[in-house]
Amino acid sequence: MASAFSHAFASLAIGRVTPVARGWKFYLIGAVGAVIPDLDAIGFWAGVPYDSMLGHRGITHSFFFAFLYATAAMFLFYTNEKPLSRTWLILFASFFASTASHALLDACTTGGLGVDLFAPFYDHRYFLPWRVIKVSPISVTRFFSETGIRVLASEFVWIWIPSFVIMITAMIIDPPYPKQKA
Ligand SMILES: [Zn+2]
Repeated sequence: MASAFSHAFASLAIGRVTPVARGWKFYLIGAVGAVIPDLDAIGFWAGVPYDSMLGHRGITHSFFFAFLYATAAMFLFYTNEKPLSRTWLILFASFFASTASHALLDACTTGGLGVDLFAPFYDHRYFLPWRVIKVSPISVTRFFSETGIRVLASEFVWIWIPSFVIMITAMIIDPPYPKQKA
């Protein structure tokens, strides 16, 4: 995994470029979607083999899971939106993208097994061609160590800076304050 903070941060950039009215609920659902796939790390302690579909980077790191998460989010938290209306689809796509961004970022890391992107339909572990993000240790003690600092530095370069650039560009193109009337 990349660290939870970085996954959440990437989701804020995705949220910021989503062309709908955005509030704290919207950003929170996106951030939870971006972090939640790593709950599968529980499997390490529960004795689930890493390379099984239920193991770490298994089904919770699939596009199918992102689809389920986005669908559940819409039916639980956006009951006022008419299903499949334009706004509904944009919100759905945003939550899908935030959740799927987790798996895609993991697929750019230097370690671990690949990501089971097409589970449960096709069980294969994928990496993307750009394996540049240092893999984050699962254990918290190791995280706050020298390895942890190297991981954060690498996530800063490959996740935080691009996310900042996206957010700042979005601020310029689409400022958060009401535009002055000419
Ligand atoms: Zn992960």
